[in-house]
Amino acid sequence: MRLLLAEHLNFFNYTLARPTELPSTLYLTHGEVLLHAAGVLEYIPDQPYHHCILISCGIHGNEMAPIEWCCQLIEDVLAENVLLQQRVQFQLGNLDAIAVQQRFVETNMNRLFDPKSCLAPLATDTSEIRRSKQLRQYTIKFFDQATTLGCSQYHFDLHTAIRASKQPLFAVLPWLGEQRYAPILFDFLKQSEIQAVLLSAQPTSTYSYFSSTLGVISATLELGQVQPFGTHDLTLIQAFTRTLTRWLTSAPLLEDMNAWQQLTLFQVSREIKKTSSTFKFKFPDDIANFSCFERGACLAEDASGKVVVEHDQEWIVFPNAGVPIGERAMLTLVRAHTDQLIST
Ligand SMILES: [Zn+2]
Repeated sequence: MRLLLAEHLNFFNYTLARPTELPSTLYLTHGEVLLHAAGVLEYIPDQPYHHCILISCGIHGNEMAPIEWCCQLIEDVLAENVLLQQRVQFQLGNLDAIAVQQRFVETNMNRLFDPKSCLAPLATDTSEIRRSKQLRQYTIKFFDQATTLGCSQYHFDLHTAIRASKQPLFAVLPWLGEQRYAPILFDFLKQSEIQAVLLSAQPTSTYSYFSSTLGVISATLELGQVQPFGTHDLTLIQAFTRTLTRWLTSAPLLEDMNAWQQLTLFQVSREIKKTSSTFKFKFPDDIANFSCFERGACLAEDASGKVVVEHDQEWIVFPNAGVPIGERAMLTLVRAHTDQLIST
């Protein structure tokens, strides 16, 4: 595989070439690399390890910064320039969309991880549906093995946002029901200089929610704004890449139990769905994520009526009037009430 990678310049090109005969295992000096499928690669150290970490990127195919960084890290691991001490699986998500640098081809893949939907074929079948099923199967197996081995388990699903943001780097944490969030996750975010955190209010069909239902500490990380391949300034996510690399090359380490107190925590107030073709926002198209509105302000109009700010302040994220009818057009946020949310 190393030879093939050298011939194909890099892991990115190698993956998109979709080799039909995949070399399955490569033995390195201190561990082995398994290539399970195109874009699904796992490193297993020879030495005992205690943590299993899944890093996914490219679930949206045009979000290139994390894809570029992951591919570079994989190449450094294969070239033995970087020695991982933990078991790590990398997943490049939506290969068809990555190949054409589009968010998705037919279906938004980050709406295809509903834990309750079964893995059987559906009436509608798209490449994204097939790929999300495949990724789920590898994820379930990876964390099943981690459980058997008694390892702690993490999943970081890496994205970049479509629009500018008043909080350039932010995390979306899955709804955990009665469970509490792990302090180490907030410490990781603080060290990564990811200042804003959205706490989901209900089950979703995102990848990080799916893995959280397996008992994994998981997060969706939004690492800046979408840019074309090769044009990202990766120094903007340097604190994040340095912190995650440290976790992989040594171990996850909780240094500050109260890191969450230094972050700006939001909780989802409302999910605004588009209910008709007349849906439209009452703010400019290029509005930044985390723009704040005061009580009474009108955010959108739909056939069902006006969407008006109900709290003293509400912040908006992910506005997208172009979604299909019935899908989420925006989230509104309020400051989180942190009592009972974080285990101490
Ligand atoms: Zn995304």
